[in-house]
Amino acid sequence: MRMRKKKNGDKRLAACAHLLREKPDTPIESTLRDFGYEAEMRLEVGCGKGGFACGMAKKHQNACFYALERVSDVMVLAVEKAEREREERKTDNLRFLLAGAAELSEYFAPESLSVIYLNFSDPWPKKGHTRRRLTYRGFLRVYFSLLKKGGELRLKTDNVGLFDFTLEELSALGLTPYFLTRDLHHTPEAAENVMTEYERNFSEQGIPICSLAVRKEGELPSPEDAEEKRIPSLDSREERLSDQV
Ligand code: SAH
Repeated sequence: MRMRKKKNGDKRLAACAHLLREKPDTPIESTLRDFGYEAEMRLEVGCGKGGFACGMAKKHQNACFYALERVSDVMVLAVEKAEREREERKTDNLRFLLAGAAELSEYFAPESLSVIYLNFSDPWPKKGHTRRRLTYRGFLRVYFSLLKKGGELRLKTDNVGLFDFTLEELSALGLTPYFLTRDLHHTPEAAENVMTEYERNFSEQGIPICSLAVRKEGELPSPEDAEEKRIPSLDSREERLSDQV
């Protein structure tokens, strides 16, 4: 998400510091440390302007939510939204982490999270950028190490290329979604769905939303045993060009 530098960005973040979780000295194991009580712990990776995290925290008051975003100017908008809605939400079950997904293991202990959400992650369409996609197998391994047994990864995207890539990466790790749709808003699950900012925007343009959920049943195969596949480009022009070479 490209944005002009926010005026007073640092000051505005500091004003909402009570909602921001600094990098912990040791990875977070339970909600006790930040929220003062034990509850199931869920995480959104790449929360953008925070609409989903705020909506989910309000809807699922028995759970505690963390929302991770690496761009501070976007994070400002998310924490300010959470602060505005705090009174209405009547619960204090949401914290924000200003960090990148690559640092997740420094924030959360193994088997600590019950759900991880990825919403409208950047598709990084070029082949050379495959490893940056947040559903690249290296990231998937991190998410599954942080999930409790029986926990789940949930994903939404408008990008069919990223969705197909994700299915291939999951399959390479021996994972099969228990829920999968290429048109979320026309399934019964739509009734429970909390929309993100990107999702509202795309669906208003008539673009269908792909979604999947996959459960952690056990340990993943070791990297040597995971099936290595050709890493596809999501950019059809690039694919055509490389096919010609
Ligand atoms: N989830 C929001 C925003 C989608 S855009 C929505 O659906 O409306 C993707 C967001 O992920 C951007 O805000 C971007 O800054 C963030 N992001 C991308 N890569 C990231 C990473 N490695 N770690 C943390 N956040 C990331």
